[in-house]
Amino acid sequence: MASSFKIHFFGTSSAVPTKERGLSCLAIIHESSISFFDCGEGSQRAVINAGLGFNKDCNIFITHMHGDHVVGLLGILQTMAMNRREKPVKVFGPRGIVEFIRENQAILKFGLTFDILAKEVKSGLVFDEKNSKFRVHATRSEHSTLSFSYLFEEKEKPGRFHPDRAQKLGIPEGPLWSKLQHGENVALPGSRKKISPDQVLDESRPGKRIGVSGDTRPSESLEKFFKNTDVLIFDSTYSDKNKENAIENMHSTSREAALLARKARVRQLILTHFSARYRSVSHLVKEAREEFPNTIAARDMMVYDLSTLS
Ligand SMILES: [Zn+2]
Repeated sequence: MASSFKIHFFGTSSAVPTKERGLSCLAIIHESSISFFDCGEGSQRAVINAGLGFNKDCNIFITHMHGDHVVGLLGILQTMAMNRREKPVKVFGPRGIVEFIRENQAILKFGLTFDILAKEVKSGLVFDEKNSKFRVHATRSEHSTLSFSYLFEEKEKPGRFHPDRAQKLGIPEGPLWSKLQHGENVALPGSRKKISPDQVLDESRPGKRIGVSGDTRPSESLEKFFKNTDVLIFDSTYSDKNKENAIENMHSTSREAALLARKARVRQLILTHFSARYRSVSHLVKEAREEFPNTIAARDMMVYDLSTLS
């Protein structure tokens, strides 16, 4: 069975919700883990509607400390406690994230059944664990407050294992096979001969990468950060007509998002964080496609399956 690797869009509106769009929140499901990127108000309801539950291995990445991106975090944590979650939750965000959680917990007096490991991030590698199948990097974005963009990077996957080759080399099935599959050299039983993984495995396959811009103006540094990503999810608050607002409020137009996607040579652009003034965002998509054809617009509850990208 192909392993699960999907992006769930929970909230795709900017600043205020609309009937159709909630406040910023998306999650990347990678096998048994869930990684949230921003948790606007109402996020937990969307998670429930998507049937995802609150007991997965969970990491939460906050792009910036504006209410419409972070207030929903409290509800998610409280509901996890109501569900008697025991596994810890890791929360990453800019300066203020640790205090935000600590103070709210004290004022609202909610007890937790699990540990929250909250950490303020800097540009660079922010998440990597020996047993995790992905890592997450951060870089500064350009918004009206300290903000970060994130890059979710699936780790390299070992190539396909060939049991026939292992048998031919005289390696008995069992723990030695597993070691080779995990990239370790093994010694052939009863001899000094070493067998290396490349004798029984195809070449390793690079993992996929997903960029999440958060709120930002486009910039050269983001273009570099998102270079060659498979999927780029980018601030697309405004259309061409409202470019002045984009500059003033430190957001991007859909065309600017598309220009950056083209220069960064990404494979798929997904626009999100639309101003509530637009009932339809089809003109934003049209403007973006003039620069970068492989563009789609996110909508609430949309699921993007990474396995569709070969
Ligand atoms: Zn925002």
